[in-house]
Amino acid sequence: MTGSMSSSGSSELIDRLTARGAKTVALQFPEGLKRKAGEYARALREAGFSVIVSGDPCYGACDLALDTLAFADVLVHFGHAPVNDQPDVIFEPYHVDFDPAVLEKALPLLSGKTIGLVTTVQHVHRIPAMETFLHARGFEARVAPGSGRTPHPGQVLGCCFTAARIPGVEAILFVGTGVFHPVGMALTTGLKVIALDPLTGTAQEVSGEALQRRRFAVMEKARGAGSFGIIVSTKQGQERMELAKYLAGLSPHAVIVTMREVSPDELLNIGLAAYVNTACPRLAYDDQVRFPVPVLSPQEFEILCGKRTWDEYEIDEIP
Ligand code: SF4
Repeated sequence: MTGSMSSSGSSELIDRLTARGAKTVALQFPEGLKRKAGEYARALREAGFSVIVSGDPCYGACDLALDTLAFADVLVHFGHAPVNDQPDVIFEPYHVDFDPAVLEKALPLLSGKTIGLVTTVQHVHRIPAMETFLHARGFEARVAPGSGRTPHPGQVLGCCFTAARIPGVEAILFVGTGVFHPVGMALTTGLKVIALDPLTGTAQEVSGEALQRRRFAVMEKARGAGSFGIIVSTKQGQERMELAKYLAGLSPHAVIVTMREVSPDELLNIGLAAYVNTACPRLAYDDQVRFPVPVLSPQEFEILCGKRTWDEYEIDEIP
């Protein structure tokens, strides 16, 4: 398998920047691609552009470096697809390739013959090849069209599982790394979900039960809290102020707190007894072990406030 920018070298990117009449170019890379910054900056400078690299942490297209763009004509954001419309931003994909024959490892775990096929943005270009492979093995692979925060067919994000909501499928096959996305899809759809890592060839069935047990324990800890901070992200693709206002209205002990980076130290400094996260949903689920106090999802806070029952538990998504 290989990883590559979509253009051959940076020549296609240079053509696009030239066509826009850009003079100064801002570059933004997610954490895993930051080391490409020097290579791209050099190529663009040799082509006659001035270059500024954003050095801040970046985990998604929800966090565009608009502050760096303020000093440039255009921002090139690498490795993610857009989550909302942004003028003056070019999204450069980073594709990670693999042989679709690796799907063979997942076939014995699948139920039925009608399968929903989903993946992350690095692998969306392999969706047609995966469909062909599954068809040749006697499966009907159904792929949802792109929409909203996930513009590519079959694409899911950690905050958006829309592409897994496919009517009539008997199971979901997620092709990608890690189990967060498939666990979210298992909770969201109630279907059997098989996760296949195309880089290691490891296939496994996932369920949402362990996550729900962990989250129940966090909610119990938060139950007696005398104060709640409702966290609102100032990152443009994570900000959910209206949701935060609704949540703050559920409890006289809640106050809205805006944050750019949600860190354990800052939560300690603010000193509230518990928090409700309306920023990137993964923060509450993935990072609870780092946080010194309970950090609930919006839906968990609703349960605590009697607005929803435990049977109506849902994983948080950004619409
Ligand atoms: Fe990824 Fe979180 Fe941003 Fe969604 S909100 S795109 S999961 S970093």
